[in-house]
Amino acid sequence: MVNKKALALLLDPEKADLAALPITADCRPDYIFVGGSTGGDTTAFVRALKKKLSTFDFRLSTVPIVLFPGSAEQFTPEADAILYLSLLSGTNPEYLVTQQVKSAHRIHASSVEVIPTAYILIDGGVETSTMRVTGTQPLNPSNAEGIQTIIDTCVAAELMGKKAIYLEAGSGAKTPVSPDIIRAVRAATSLTLIVGGGIRTPETMHAAYDAGADIVVIGNHFESHPEELAVFIKDLKDPKDLKDLKDPKASATDDRFMRLALAEAQKALAADEIPVGCVIVSQGQVIGRGHNLTETLSDVTAHAEMQAITAAAQTVGGKYLPDATLYVTVEPCPMCAGAIGWAQISRIVYGAPDPKRGYRTYAPRVFHPKAAVTAGVLEDECRTLMQNFFMRKRKTGISG
Ligand SMILES: [Zn+2]
Repeated sequence: MVNKKALALLLDPEKADLAALPITADCRPDYIFVGGSTGGDTTAFVRALKKKLSTFDFRLSTVPIVLFPGSAEQFTPEADAILYLSLLSGTNPEYLVTQQVKSAHRIHASSVEVIPTAYILIDGGVETSTMRVTGTQPLNPSNAEGIQTIIDTCVAAELMGKKAIYLEAGSGAKTPVSPDIIRAVRAATSLTLIVGGGIRTPETMHAAYDAGADIVVIGNHFESHPEELAVFIKDLKDPKDLKDLKDPKASATDDRFMRLALAEAQKALAADEIPVGCVIVSQGQVIGRGHNLTETLSDVTAHAEMQAITAAAQTVGGKYLPDATLYVTVEPCPMCAGAIGWAQISRIVYGAPDPKRGYRTYAPRVFHPKAAVTAGVLEDECRTLMQNFFMRKRKTGISG
């Protein structure tokens, strides 16, 4: 949970229509939250959702699916992560700890990432299903005492070791959590701040981000207005996030060296390895190349970039490569990004993004501070190679 200013789309397994899900490779949320206060078969839903996303586009299979459970029964090991919620705004033991105890064994035995989260209901002007189900009252933001209670509850959450705070106005809330409340909570804690409920316009979403929200959750509004999702996401992504990555300096030279990296990736593919390839270039010359060899060498560190860095260091006879540009077909993982940082490589060019395993999710500042990054060079070709590899794996029944 480190994507800041991220958008989460909340899907209720009982209500969401996967066939009408308005997500495309260019219009996708950063997270999909799955949950609801009532029920539904979460396992079947998450499986169907994953299948829909991955068969549609390689990039979509990297959108993390995060459980937002209403009860212990809604846990499924199929998800990528779970908001392990404790309803701290109320005093009903059932939702403070009992449901958590009920699900603890299954969660612990799974590989699902656990995000300890304080769930805090804020009065949004209507009685919500969460209030009915949990038998608790929301905190009241309309007077100074109520606001102080909200802040104190959030501080208590941080002291208890929670990693995230979820400020919830409730699905169908008349008024979303106000920017003033978000700002006050932001000032009081450093936890990841998730805000949801009653957010129906891009303006409300931006107001929440500006006040300090890290993740804004949009939900049941889109069950009735799926076409509007694109407006939210475009509005969020277009101006800066994408521009950061589109470097006008990307040029024919970049295409040429990325083709060499793709040729390396083809070598990996021929050896039935995940097809990632890399070349390192200095003063117009390739000084190192490599492709993924993790299966061949039985070595999890044998990524394309690691091979290429080792080769380049041998070529130049030194461990630092400050004049070099590294071309790799897929966004580097945190391990490789770390090695790229150690080698002081000054420019990194990659093809396809990898939001699930890529460094940007885990370690966005890992490169040398002055290093320049260009993304999306020959992106379609780099991605297609990966897509085809994984599709083939799926057909042969060998897990990737
Ligand atoms: Zn790597």
